[in-house]
Amino acid sequence: MKIASVILDIQTQSLDTPYTYAVPDDMDGAQVGCAVLVEFGRRRAVGYIIAIAEAQEESHDAPVSPAVRSVAFHDESEALPATRTDRRVELKPLLSVLSAPYFDEFGARLIQFIAHEYIAPLSSCVHLLTPVGRAPKVVKRGDEWELQKPAKRRKKKDAEAAPILDDADIARTAQQREAFDLTEGQMQAIQAIEGAMAHAAGGCVVVDGVTGSGKTEVYLRAIRAALERGMGAIVLVPEIALTPQTVSRFESRFGDTVAVMHSRMTGGERYDQWQDVASGRKRVVVGARSALFCPMERLGLVVIDEEHESTYKQESAPRYHARDVAAWMVCELGATLVLGSATPSIETLCRTTYDPSWHRVSLPGRANGKPMPPVRIIDMAREFGSGSRSMFSRTLQEELFAALDAGHKAVLMLNQRGFANFLLCRECGYVPECPTCSVSLTYHERGNMLVCHHCGHRVPAPPVCPACGSPYLKKFGAGTQRVEAELLKLLEGREQVRVIRMDSDTTSSRDAHERLLREFAKPGAAVLLGTQMIAKGLDFDEVVLVGVINADTQLRLPDFRSAERTFDLVEQVAGRAGRGELDGQVLVQTYMADSVAIQAAATYNRKRFLSDELPKRRMLGYPPYMRLANILVWGENADEVRDVALELDARVNEAIRDIVGTDWMSLGAAPCAIERLRSQYRWHILIKAPRDADIARLVEPVIRKRRTHKRVNVACDVDPFSL
Ligand code: ADP
Ligand code: ZN
Ligand code: ZN
Repeated sequence: MKIASVILDIQTQSLDTPYTYAVPDDMDGAQVGCAVLVEFGRRRAVGYIIAIAEAQEESHDAPVSPAVRSVAFHDESEALPATRTDRRVELKPLLSVLSAPYFDEFGARLIQFIAHEYIAPLSSCVHLLTPVGRAPKVVKRGDEWELQKPAKRRKKKDAEAAPILDDADIARTAQQREAFDLTEGQMQAIQAIEGAMAHAAGGCVVVDGVTGSGKTEVYLRAIRAALERGMGAIVLVPEIALTPQTVSRFESRFGDTVAVMHSRMTGGERYDQWQDVASGRKRVVVGARSALFCPMERLGLVVIDEEHESTYKQESAPRYHARDVAAWMVCELGATLVLGSATPSIETLCRTTYDPSWHRVSLPGRANGKPMPPVRIIDMAREFGSGSRSMFSRTLQEELFAALDAGHKAVLMLNQRGFANFLLCRECGYVPECPTCSVSLTYHERGNMLVCHHCGHRVPAPPVCPACGSPYLKKFGAGTQRVEAELLKLLEGREQVRVIRMDSDTTSSRDAHERLLREFAKPGAAVLLGTQMIAKGLDFDEVVLVGVINADTQLRLPDFRSAERTFDLVEQVAGRAGRGELDGQVLVQTYMADSVAIQAAATYNRKRFLSDELPKRRMLGYPPYMRLANILVWGENADEVRDVALELDARVNEAIRDIVGTDWMSLGAAPCAIERLRSQYRWHILIKAPRDADIARLVEPVIRKRRTHKRVNVACDVDPFSL
């Protein structure tokens, strides 16, 4: 008799385990990857087969414990994580097979890898590999159960909107392709990638090149090389960069074999693309994070553009990082990973120094030979001191008027991260910090308090600046709308200037992003005002001025990655200026003019930034030196949430003491920075572990064994992007 190990498709926050069912002798088509109908308790449920095997006659001595089971998945003998393969228990049979296989043996291992590595419910991981990406509905047709077909394809309307590039542009791009000689850096990068492909050992090439250095051209040639070897390629770009502008570069080179996948597609659209890839009609996929899991046969190449971006980390279960999962996949498959960025993450840079299969190739200059635009830092504290109350410094105003009056374009960026969440003295730039954690305190409206979300330290918000006595101690707060209002006032009398605001409000509808960029691209003077989303992918020749309204708000965040993200953002947004014939310039407004992150970014000096940042990371035990895991506890009842957090805290400490020893560390249970969110109380426990530690091995049993308050949710964010 055959038995099948099945992941049930049930909505769950808690960790699940696969169940074992008997495969009826007359059932055809039950294979790994199939959706099946099963009985679970008294209900019918959809499940997915992740392993199939002959039942063994001898009964197991003892059921395998969940912890052991989940870490042992790569051992073939353990590949059947049965609840009980004990023959004395009568196994329920599979009721019917609902689909052809969605994934193969490798997919089954991938699901288990992600579930283990990120301590996530298996059911949440299996959806990454199914065609609609969520739980399907089953319907009864006559006597037969079947999966409901995904909704019809969306009407063509949206897709038909005029592309940013018109046909002439695309023709020019296509023509351009072979017209130039590759730069030295590009050649080195392609050589390294082809070398890794020939080696087929899961190597990684980091293409470390400034904006405009020709990274995309490198990706295109790498894809060509993969296709020529009969292999498929997956290209991940940040969701926001998935504009027609980006997509058309791949389509104009590879035509019909390109599939596009992003989160705004309907179930039906995703299903169609998925089928095209599964059938081999499409051999190149360009998409957002989850496109990594498309059913590409003979995957030879994964490209991740802007690999430092936070969008590659999923913020709900499974909380995976696409780059890190891709690194695992290429190793398993003998494929090649290409990571590209003007500002590679510190983890990635670091790995190229200690992992012999990771190589870094540098593309130091723009492909068209133009220099990077000069960056000027504008000290806003000094501006304020000399009487200016505007959020636009005098220099920024002058340069903006000059650019617009000449009929050019400008980009203004408001850094929203960290906005209004801390106190700032507008006179001296002072920001209250925790006396023990050396992070800025977070302002809590409730009770007018300042709170450290690492250690829980709390003080009332001071009425005047503790450093200089100034009463101008304010929640630093202004959204894009307020900036827009002030900008429009500044531009009075310049009616021909179009102002386009791009933030989460104005881009919530499908394709709004493209529509706004099209509007900006029209000839004539225009200002694009937006949040950090405008730092990505945007490529317009006529942008001569980039202004950053507030470069430092992010630096105030109590987050180990604050300085890195500030450096990245300034560097990325600077790259948007002066890409074409016209010279560009960048103005960076800040209250922290002497911050190393900002100064180093303004001089394009990464070395300086790292030599300041790395010792801090090392001293405080953050990545790339230590791994983090953040256990999250949330629920509606404050006392219950605290109880669970304290119980877990005790168990974590016990496990660290008993199992792993002293190189691990827990910072203890503490309320989250935002203690109450959407009527849920939230606590967390931050754990630091050695860089190569198997975090799940310690944390998973802790979470599974908890006793108190089942209504309270517990999850773990392994390798959190930020805190
Ligand atoms: P990145 O992806 O690093 O921002 P792109 O690949 O978009 O850079 O290249 C920027 C511009 O330079 C594009 O218009 C591209 O066609 C062009 N380009 C790329 N490589 C070369 C080259 N070797 N010589 C001249 N132009 C190039
Ligand atoms: Zn503290
Ligand atoms: Zn002050």
